[in-house]
Amino acid sequence: MRRIVCHCMEPVAPSGSPVRHPVRLRLDDGQRALQAELRAFLAASIPDEFRRTVANPDYLPRDAHERAVAFCRELHARGWFVPHWPAEHEGGGRPIIEQVIIREELAYAGAPLVNSNGTNMLAPVLFQSGTPEQQAQHLGPIARSEVMWAQGYSESEAGSDLAALRMTAVRDGDHYVLNGHKTWTSNGRLADWIFVLVRTDPDVKPQAGISFLLVDMRTPGITMRPIRSMTGYPTFAEEFFDDVRVPVEHRVGAEHDGWRVAKALLNAERTNITRAAQAQRFYDELVEWLHAQEGTRLDLRRDPLVREQLAYLAERIAVGRALSYRIAHLQAAGALTPALASLSKLFWSSFAFEIKDVGTRILGPGGLLMPGDADALVDGHFAEGLLLGLLHQIGGGTNEVQRNVIGEAGLGLPREPRA
Ligand SMILES: Cc1cc2nc3c(=O)[nH]c(=O)nc-3n(C[C@H](O)[C@H](O)[C@H](O)COP(=O)(O)OP(=O)(O)OC[C@H]3O[C@@H](n4cnc5c(N)ncnc54)[C@H](O)[C@@H]3O)c2cc1C
Repeated sequence: MRRIVCHCMEPVAPSGSPVRHPVRLRLDDGQRALQAELRAFLAASIPDEFRRTVANPDYLPRDAHERAVAFCRELHARGWFVPHWPAEHEGGGRPIIEQVIIREELAYAGAPLVNSNGTNMLAPVLFQSGTPEQQAQHLGPIARSEVMWAQGYSESEAGSDLAALRMTAVRDGDHYVLNGHKTWTSNGRLADWIFVLVRTDPDVKPQAGISFLLVDMRTPGITMRPIRSMTGYPTFAEEFFDDVRVPVEHRVGAEHDGWRVAKALLNAERTNITRAAQAQRFYDELVEWLHAQEGTRLDLRRDPLVREQLAYLAERIAVGRALSYRIAHLQAAGALTPALASLSKLFWSSFAFEIKDVGTRILGPGGLLMPGDADALVDGHFAEGLLLGLLHQIGGGTNEVQRNVIGEAGLGLPREPRA
């Protein structure tokens, strides 16, 4: 299999350049050594059962999840699980370029990284808005893969229009009392804790009356039910909250200021920094499969349509990778805008589906058989990826919603009328 080459990323602004954040693609000797060390470790250490889970590392059965946790702890022991976190919070203290190198290699190899809700979503929010006590309580267990997190934003009537959420939190002394329902919670069945958006003031405009709370899933009054998605995995859960008491000190940010916290978290969720490596992995598997058909009736390597499609995919991966590097640079500089985060989310969720769509067309009917089927081509990887690709166009905000953000926040178009 060919290997992704990470060339990133030293921002350089040539004088007079109209481009504000160009990226020079270059690694120094130390970074190449890190890359080589990682490749050697991953080639020897990823359990075989995970090598095909590049498409769905988040959605594992419980026993596989536990083996994935063990792998993540091994990564952490080497400083590669949360490489960019500061050392005082058990991170590797590495610069952004090394974080990108590590993340790309892990994604390409299919490393089963658990708890993205904790590492990629909640942690950036805690670094930005958490109290020292919240940071001390939660960051270490996330780094050590000891506590799994879920995201409790969506409700039955609050998805794209998230500010319409109804779950209430009423102040009672030094606690909030929560009542309501959350749904589509990725990995809810594995979660120890959940961060939720709740309505703390019903008498103001919707965005102004929301707070952001951290809730221990073992608190009395929480009922969780798994929901199986079309992939066959128990991908989601829903949770019912009946008079659930949550200490006030578990609120992140000021009371009623949860919308600001929630939006910062969504930006972190939408950057998609590892998608280029995952797409490259699919691409390489497809090309490898084509070469393996040499001399058979499935040898399509001279088919002009197939060649054109492969060239198109390669071009999109290159463009997307440059976008991801730029996002990483802006994120590290604290300069990532919501419109650019949405652009990245839109690009990658569209392309993640497209590459599997093209792949299954090239593979033919055998490419549409799921993992476990004896006749499945490329281990059913593309078929499964196609289904997950559909989910990814909805999760984290639908493609239509991303287009609205790009139009309104990025291009200054008038806001769409609210119903
Ligand atoms: C894989 C996956 C993982 C998820 N994980 C989580 C999670 O961990 N935690 C969590 O809280 N939620 C999660 N969700 C839920 C997700 O955030 C919502 O499904 C999403 O925000 C859409 O909301 P909805 O399903 O209510 O659809 P709706 O908001 O009802 O949208 C229905 C359709 O209308 C379109 N639409 C709605 N409003 C507009 C508009 N203003 N302009 C144009 N089109 C519009 C949408 O694009 C969509 O096509 C997940 C969903 C998926 C698929």
